[in-house]
Amino acid sequence: MGRAFVYVIVGGGVAAGYAAHEFVKRGVSQGELCIISEEPVAPYERPALSKGYLLPEAPARLPSFHCCVGTNEERLAPKWYKEHGIELILGTRVKSADVRRKTLLTATGETISYKYLIVATGARALKLEEFGVNGSDAANVCYLRDLADADRLVNVMQSCSGGNAIVIGGGYIGMECAASLVINKLNVTMVFPEAQCMARLFTPKIASYYEDFYQSKGVKFIKGTVLASFDFNADGKVTAVNLRDGNKLPADMVVIGIGIRPNTSLFEGQLTMEKGGIKVNGKMQSSNSFVYAIGDVAAFPVKVVGETRRLEHVDSARKAARHAVAAIKEPEKTGEFDYLPFFYSRVFTLSWQFYGDNAGEVVHFGDFSGNTFGAYWIHKGHLVGSFLEGGTKEQYEAIAQATRLKPKVEDLAVVETQGLEFALSV
Ligand code: FAD
Ligand code: NDP
Repeated sequence: MGRAFVYVIVGGGVAAGYAAHEFVKRGVSQGELCIISEEPVAPYERPALSKGYLLPEAPARLPSFHCCVGTNEERLAPKWYKEHGIELILGTRVKSADVRRKTLLTATGETISYKYLIVATGARALKLEEFGVNGSDAANVCYLRDLADADRLVNVMQSCSGGNAIVIGGGYIGMECAASLVINKLNVTMVFPEAQCMARLFTPKIASYYEDFYQSKGVKFIKGTVLASFDFNADGKVTAVNLRDGNKLPADMVVIGIGIRPNTSLFEGQLTMEKGGIKVNGKMQSSNSFVYAIGDVAAFPVKVVGETRRLEHVDSARKAARHAVAAIKEPEKTGEFDYLPFFYSRVFTLSWQFYGDNAGEVVHFGDFSGNTFGAYWIHKGHLVGSFLEGGTKEQYEAIAQATRLKPKVEDLAVVETQGLEFALSV
């Protein structure tokens, strides 16, 4: 049994949703495009899961955050796919791929063949077991990657109101979930191995602003140590967290955010890999010219930093998706993807944006005791990265624009004094 399509997208997350939108914009005939997704729902804006989805009042629920509402474009509910003749095969895992034969085999036993394949399988959350700790399956231990995880997290959180939540990991999931847990009236302790939160991006000065803010909301931080084991009750629920530094923390629930691994396994040994992902060129084309890769799973040349990188962020997934479709549909007219890395987060009343690369020397600016401050990264005499908390739309646009232009910086002290004016004057 099998079906054949011109275009197949494996994976039905953010990148798949934006790719489908771009196919329709550029013209796709009924029955030409198929999306196969393990998730039971049409592509949605994953960032909502750690923000609006976790609100105690009027939480975001599907269908409100299907792609492409994240960029204020039309919302692609399942009906939209039907109307455009796009086959949406949901709740179905692709269990193997053969890029030589151009076929995929689904867990339901169907063989699907393609002319062009777009790999948009995203990533999976790293499990505690991969770090030698058991207990991921306990009823009150939560991860957060997909809708099912988010529903579980909401249920556990609601059953633990007023109790103790331990958040393991000081990255994006840790920071956003800790804020949501506080808003849901849990006592939150964050535990992570580094000396500061968001160690891969924030400078110590920036991290200390957010940590102080979190502490003012009641969050406790235990840094420089990791989880060693859990204590369980007779029902198999976690009752305490044992840390390597000897601390024991009573726990009603635990949230784990210790990083991800791209879902590349279907293509190991078939496509060239780099940085843990599928290596693609500036047209998002892999080592097999009929296979494209986008989103968390793709390692692509980031021209502005002169390096191949894998970016685990939504803006990159959306733009790479549109670029890949343009490259497939109009190869002659489509140049190399020229992407300026953009990361952001929103927690409590705070909101920051970062553009570019956090390499080189840093100058901080603005009022770190107030609401608006930022930093510039200067590498080899040029601005390469910009961070801003509490900016306006115009200010964020200005730092993005300035970072893309990589202006020369003669004197760090001048830039420090000018602050935002520096970006506005580029
Ligand atoms: P995904 O959106 O993860 O989609 C992958 C899809 O592929 C999934 O539906 C999966 O089920 C499916 N799949 C995988 N393997 C198979 C298979 N074998 N067969 C069939 N289907 C398969 N980024 C930001 O920039 N800002 C944010 O605020 C932000 N918030 C986030 C909050 C959360 C909770 C999470 C988890 C991520 C967040 N991110 C954020 C990151 C962002 O969501 C990802 O970078 C983005 O979703 C990547 O898109 P993708 O399509 O590559 O992968
Ligand atoms: P991150 O990579 O952001 O952070 C993982 C954190 O866990 C790091 O602080 C890491 O430290 C720490 N860690 C690693 N191993 C252990 C361990 N054994 N015990 C305790 N801590 C450990 O991943 P997340 O899980 O937070 O996020 C998952 C994905 O979701 C990412 O792709 C992220 O981009 C995405 N996301 C993005 C958001 C946004 O952009 N606003 C919001 C939510 C999720 P170290 O650095 O030393 O490895």
